[in-house]
Amino acid sequence: MKPLVRDFFICFGNIFRKPKAAVYPKEKIIIPDNSRGIPRLKLDLDTLEVICNGCGECEKNCPQQCISIKTIIENKKEFLDEFYIDLSKCIFCGNCVEHCPINAIEMTYRYQLADSNKQAFKFEKLDLIKQADYSIRDFWSR
Ligand code: SF4
Ligand code: SF4
Repeated sequence: MKPLVRDFFICFGNIFRKPKAAVYPKEKIIIPDNSRGIPRLKLDLDTLEVICNGCGECEKNCPQQCISIKTIIENKKEFLDEFYIDLSKCIFCGNCVEHCPINAIEMTYRYQLADSNKQAFKFEKLDLIKQADYSIRDFWSR
């Protein structure tokens, strides 16, 4: 009987307490500095072309093998054709960024990825470029 009475008073008391959980996603969440979200491919601001040259270092060093790169050869020179990341496997470790020799990829602050469609996690080159909007910590205010 005692625990029942105790539980009753706990429940009764909770009616008058303020909720502790955030009303996500309606409530803005402060994302800590240096958080690692979806990687993005950076653009050269002069040419508006991707900086990535398809060297494959990030692909080799990704512990999840979720990066896949295709290159093309033009005039005996190799260029990046496609760049895929399967974000359903990505663990946001940042290894791809650490190993890029020309600083062509960076982590953004975007962390919301829930989707029932597995295909939605397969990001190609254009999707990865578009993540530029999430490069700032306070992207919610945009
Ligand atoms: S963050 Fe880590 S797991 Fe994700 S693509 Fe880069 S290296 Fe791979
Ligand atoms: S390591 Fe950098 S330059 Fe090389 S393929 Fe990856 S993102 Fe592109």
